[in-house]
Amino acid sequence: MNFFYRHRAALGAAALLLTVAFTLTVCFCALAGTAAEAHRLTVVLDAGHGGVDGGVVGVRTGTKESDINLKITFLLQERFEEAGFRVVLTRRTEAGLYGMATSGYKKRDMQKRAEIIQTSSPSLVISVHQNFFSLPSRRGAQVFFKESSESSRSLACDIQTALNAMPECVKRSDPLKGDYYILNCSDTPSVIVECGFLSNPEDEALLLQESYRRKLADAVTEGALGFLSSSANLRNFG
Ligand SMILES: [Zn+2]
Repeated sequence: MNFFYRHRAALGAAALLLTVAFTLTVCFCALAGTAAEAHRLTVVLDAGHGGVDGGVVGVRTGTKESDINLKITFLLQERFEEAGFRVVLTRRTEAGLYGMATSGYKKRDMQKRAEIIQTSSPSLVISVHQNFFSLPSRRGAQVFFKESSESSRSLACDIQTALNAMPECVKRSDPLKGDYYILNCSDTPSVIVECGFLSNPEDEALLLQESYRRKLADAVTEGALGFLSSSANLRNFG
């Protein structure tokens, strides 16, 4: 009788124990993962426009706002994920969210964004856009918030402060109230970040540089994390 036959009962019991231990470990890790996931804060990043709606265009190059918005949004996604957030993007391709570009597409596009925000239960919403103005001299990043939301104002102040501190900032701005659908569609602290003016050649040139877009994303993330780290906001959203 060889070793296996003499000890097969013991070997069987050991194998069973190992299987049970492995199963329990896998279950525990899955549960731990679920719990960790449940405690992560969510941020919704909204790249404005898309598809047939390219937004405004660069005065020199004709670059579409929608393309720049998406690039900056991806950079923000990297930073928020590195900071431990669950990130939900409303738009992750060049396409809009309206389905077919038939009558009412803009409304359908905005409703889809609102639906994503409302079902994601985020701690904050950042909508990324580029500005345009009739006076080409107008420059700089500008943050908008919903007037009736004190937390949105606070988030906007923190992000605007970080943007104003960038070396490329030629004129410090205050955040502005804005009556926009994306700000009004939920009670979540929400801002629109207009990163620069595509009607201004200097801003346009900066926005076309990957290195500048990275700096912008760094500043927006810094402002948003500053907002969340204040004790009052952690009480509300932690
Ligand atoms: Zn826009």
